[in-house]
Amino acid sequence: MAIRDIDRVKCNDCGRCYLICPMDVFGKVGRRVYLSNPEDCMPCYLCEIDCPVDAITIDAERGRPIPLPY
Ligand code: SF4
Ligand code: SF4
Repeated sequence: MAIRDIDRVKCNDCGRCYLICPMDVFGKVGRRVYLSNPEDCMPCYLCEIDCPVDAITIDAERGRPIPLPY
């Protein structure tokens, strides 16, 4: 679970993280974006990079280990 939380003070519910996440980590109720499956975060950093107000912080130390190729 590399994603920590959405900073609700900064977040404007633009929905970009919801659209870009390949793992369905984000959910939506109306316009409101929330973390529905944070344990599925890889992390790929797309949401952190794309968020226009820096409301998302990804902590690589908390991510899943990268599987060995053998
Ligand atoms: S991209 Fe950022 S501002 Fe937009 S909904 Fe996600 S956390 Fe909020
Ligand atoms: S880092 Fe990638 S997998 Fe994790 S929440 Fe953001 S977009 Fe989804």
